[in-house]
Amino acid sequence: MMEISQPLAELDWIPRPRLLALCRLGLETVEDLLTHYPRRHEDRHQFPEFPREESDTSICLCGEVVKTSLRRFGGWKKIFEATLHQPDANALSQPLVCRWFNLHYVQKMIATGQRLVVFGKPRLRGNRICMDHPEFEVIENDEEMSIHFRRITPIYPATEGLSQRALRGIIYRILQHLDNERLETLLPAALDGGDGTIAIRTVHFPEDWESLSAAREHLVLSEFFAMQMLIAARRAESSVRAGAAHCGRGELLEKFLRSLPFELTDAQNRVIAEIRRDLAANHPMNRLLQGDVGSGKTVVAIAAILLAIEAGFQAAFMAPTQILAEQHYAVLRRWLEPLRVRLSIRTAARQEESGPLPLFESGNARKESSSRRGGVTSTRDACATQTRRDDAPDVIIGTHALLYETVSFSNLGLVVIDEQHKFGVAQRARLTSREPAPDVLVMTATPIPRTLTMTVYGDLDVSMIDEMPRNRGKIITAVRDESKLGEVLVFLRTQLESGRQIYVIYPLIDESEKLNAKAAAAEYETWRERLHPFRCELLHGRIPAPEKQEIMERFRGGETKALISTTVLEVGVDIANATVMLIENAERFGLAQLHQLRGRIGRGEHKSYCILLSSDPSKETAAKLTVLEKTSNGFEVAEADWDLRGPGDLLGTAQSGLPALKIGNLKRDAHLMRRARAAAMSIFAADPRLESAENQRFRRLIVEQEGRTFSNVS
Ligand code: ADP
Ligand code: MG
Repeated sequence: MMEISQPLAELDWIPRPRLLALCRLGLETVEDLLTHYPRRHEDRHQFPEFPREESDTSICLCGEVVKTSLRRFGGWKKIFEATLHQPDANALSQPLVCRWFNLHYVQKMIATGQRLVVFGKPRLRGNRICMDHPEFEVIENDEEMSIHFRRITPIYPATEGLSQRALRGIIYRILQHLDNERLETLLPAALDGGDGTIAIRTVHFPEDWESLSAAREHLVLSEFFAMQMLIAARRAESSVRAGAAHCGRGELLEKFLRSLPFELTDAQNRVIAEIRRDLAANHPMNRLLQGDVGSGKTVVAIAAILLAIEAGFQAAFMAPTQILAEQHYAVLRRWLEPLRVRLSIRTAARQEESGPLPLFESGNARKESSSRRGGVTSTRDACATQTRRDDAPDVIIGTHALLYETVSFSNLGLVVIDEQHKFGVAQRARLTSREPAPDVLVMTATPIPRTLTMTVYGDLDVSMIDEMPRNRGKIITAVRDESKLGEVLVFLRTQLESGRQIYVIYPLIDESEKLNAKAAAAEYETWRERLHPFRCELLHGRIPAPEKQEIMERFRGGETKALISTTVLEVGVDIANATVMLIENAERFGLAQLHQLRGRIGRGEHKSYCILLSSDPSKETAAKLTVLEKTSNGFEVAEADWDLRGPGDLLGTAQSGLPALKIGNLKRDAHLMRRARAAAMSIFAADPRLESAENQRFRRLIVEQEGRTFSNVS
């Protein structure tokens, strides 16, 4: 009998060339093959009649090849046609013409007299019904017929060098050899009492559609449950780790809030209260703050920082880019230096200037930080100054690179990470694996659909700022064809004349390419002429950091009127007088990114305008861009993006640190994910260290999946 972990190479009935093809697909064990799930199924009991109309849904047909032809067109291009007749059709039945363009291998595979199963969309071309590039399978009359026909037949993800038939045959045979006991199901019975082995058999070769969907549901639940156990374990692990309370009495925070020129929104107040509870607790905080662009996350971060330093700890504030780090530094200086909080900035560009990194060095000299600010003395708790050297900064602001410098730091109580979406689980783990663990607050302005939060951020507590500050000017978004640039320019000039400033953004895929820097420069020249005499400046990723900073300062100060920029501007830049953003080739950006970019405007009381220039008249682009015309709510944009594009690489990436899904669909199966999560959470709630006998199998599962042992699980 076959073990599920057995390497396929040990099965001598699999021909070597096929083994190699399987290997290329990453299929090396029996289990890999069994979980190489069909992409779809075809009901090959009975085929429908050939259609007379075209349709937008793909259909599966069977017919006999009565004619083939190969024609040339447009010089070197070739079109191969196979005309199919429906077997036993009456005289009125229309033939079906299958066409392949420039696919040499197809013509070698198809000959007259053969029977074919084809799958595709029927289209009316002239008076013929055609299918272009259908999926197809040649029917061969052999003893294996019963595997491939007269049943609901599995169709697998495309496999180069391995036909559907061959792959299907191998999987069929493996299932025949498989001992029923071998596939233990990991699902708690309360979640789904189904049988794992039957589910696997059925998902490949179902008897009928109902049992297929039950089997699929069982397997999706198993997959989701395993994932949620992993997430629950991470969560449980951080909650039992040693941490410390990092929360002062709040006097410093009070002072700060009184000094602000505005009132906090209710949402900001609520979130600060949530963070305060976490800081005061003895276990480490692991909280995600989601809030749309411009919702005021920075103030919340500062509140957290003040609570931590009042309790005598240091705080780190990390931003994804130099520009943002500098901006945060400027904001914090303005607001916190009057409160005698000591600040220091660390970025790659400032390295030489300020010597070794103060935060992470192993306890020695921290000279540079005091010299920067001329030794302001601490006015806070005596205990604060005891646990820390007097001249150490309270807050260190820097880029995410701060993490990678050196390892140990002495008195870090809180780490705030801005724009979390650029920051992965692994990086977060670098912080939280320290003992004692600092409290960690990660912030993101890239909301994800709510149903994804429980997975992608499933191991974090989530706070949400779902309210914008009052008195925010509206952002009006308009999509325009590139041909309307003239009118757009007139509009830009009227805005400039009334004292506003503008951003012009254009896409550059890879900032590192020289070519792109040149393109940027050329673009800039054109814009200077267009906007003359208003002063323009160019900003892109290849400009050295100090210079970049100066450019930003000239724009912030109003000296420069228009900033021609690549997406280095993307996150967090906050300049209230900049009210117009023109985005060129908007079709090339993703929705989420466009929404992020748009968040750079609408930050003051003036009405703001975002103009999306597009040169692509396709339906897809129109559908995408009109989303932004219709809503300015980041969550709605995220949902629409998900509808249009699918979740993409949200899972199975460094960011989530979760395995990619093999069968479940995060959107279609969201209800199953909710059930799986509830089940996993309740197991950990009852037995946080998975000590009970019946939980041992889950413990094994987690250890296997994490590829390491859990401190509290093993
Ligand atoms: P984001 O959440 O995108 O990081 P910021 O924290 O940069 O947003 O805030 C955007 C702007 O709104 C800043 O200028 C900030 O000072 C201001 N702001 C924050 N909270 C409020 C509020 N409650 N009322 C008015 N303005 C606010
Ligand atoms: Mg921000």
